[in-house]
Amino acid sequence: MTPADLTFDQQHIWHPYTSMTRPLPVYPVVSAAGCELQLADGRQLVDGMSSWWAAIHGYNHPRLNQAMKTQIDRMSHVMFGGITHPSAVALCQKLVAMTPEPLECVFLADSGSVAVEVAMKMALQYWHAKGEPRQRFLTFRHGYHGDTFGAMSVCDPDNSMHSLWQGYLPEHLFAPAPQCGFEDDWDEMDIVPFARLMAAHRQEIAAVILEPVVQGAGGMRFYHPEWLRRIRKMCEREGILLIADEIATGFGRTGKFFACDHAGISPDIMCLGKALTGGTMTLSATLATREVAETISDGEAGCFMHGPTFMGNPLACAVAAESLALLDEGCWQEQVQAIGEQLKSGLKPLQQCEQVADVRVLGAIGVVETHHPVDMAALQAFFVDQGVWIRPFGRLIYLMPPYVIASEQLAKLIAAVSAAVKNPAFFRR
Ligand code: PMP
Repeated sequence: MTPADLTFDQQHIWHPYTSMTRPLPVYPVVSAAGCELQLADGRQLVDGMSSWWAAIHGYNHPRLNQAMKTQIDRMSHVMFGGITHPSAVALCQKLVAMTPEPLECVFLADSGSVAVEVAMKMALQYWHAKGEPRQRFLTFRHGYHGDTFGAMSVCDPDNSMHSLWQGYLPEHLFAPAPQCGFEDDWDEMDIVPFARLMAAHRQEIAAVILEPVVQGAGGMRFYHPEWLRRIRKMCEREGILLIADEIATGFGRTGKFFACDHAGISPDIMCLGKALTGGTMTLSATLATREVAETISDGEAGCFMHGPTFMGNPLACAVAAESLALLDEGCWQEQVQAIGEQLKSGLKPLQQCEQVADVRVLGAIGVVETHHPVDMAALQAFFVDQGVWIRPFGRLIYLMPPYVIASEQLAKLIAAVSAAVKNPAFFRR
């Protein structure tokens, strides 16, 4: 890439959550393999992000590449209306088998946010079909479910700036975020405000929507699994649906295959995305129970009112099926556990540092929360100089490497984080 390419990028291309007038620097990556990204100037960076929870098997995986090559020679895409194809069927067979038993009807879509839109629409249509329309969702603060309007309406109201969309965005119910951490003793009082909110609005609530156990982009918070067992029971008692957004947590990242498994519960609707294709293509799946699917289908519309152009894209389905096969055959559990142990021993001592407010580790996720927000551009440049790719945000520096990372590579990531938190110059006051 030439300097002119980078200038063009700055002037014409929007990057996630960036300004067009004051864009942050971007680093040109020309290839990636295993757990390393290669910059245009030849430098190699150890990847600590898995491209936002997605590239769990590392980059350029020969089996994933082969699955895409084989599929592309047959067909890269075909419409899903009135047509099916072997890759979609193979993928959905695996998804039905791998998810909790009551989830058996799969809707394939393009991205995580759309999976959430689909889940919310399913809940609305479910209640409409029952002749008892309900239009509100109950969730808690610090959640994150995507950037489309439906998804955004159940994201944390402050983080996703609901004030900007006032009058346009539907107003849902927000309980305080769980305070009881994953490893804390269960505190009965923690769930009381949530239970009260549900009781006060029980006739209006279509579904509870939550990220099980890990609140990701809304703060990287890990909460007690008892929350899920209680909510599951409350939803059952009231006949309210439960939507689990496993887009970030699914496929082993938290140490269990699904985060719901920490609590042994099954939702009525589950959203999957990100690591579904091993980080190669955009694809999501929303799974529902047969009861939800049949109720919707027997309603006034006679069908579920959704059908995107690239639904069930064969290329994405083929690589997703292969990614699930890799998980099935592989040793993700041992890998995630080993990463977790190394993250704990490497990051926990940082708790003593002046800049650090908290250190937490769950599965293959390590989080260092600082007292002050990071200077993103300066810290990012420092990390690149250290030969690592770590993308902090706000007061969070976190690692979630591919499951196949070698311990020396992980040690390099941990060393870079340790050096960063010891330097006050990287934090804004
Ligand atoms: N739900 C959760 C829990 C997520 O973490 C994300 C993405 N960060 C989404 C939904 C939205 O997914 P996408 O970015 O693929 O639209």
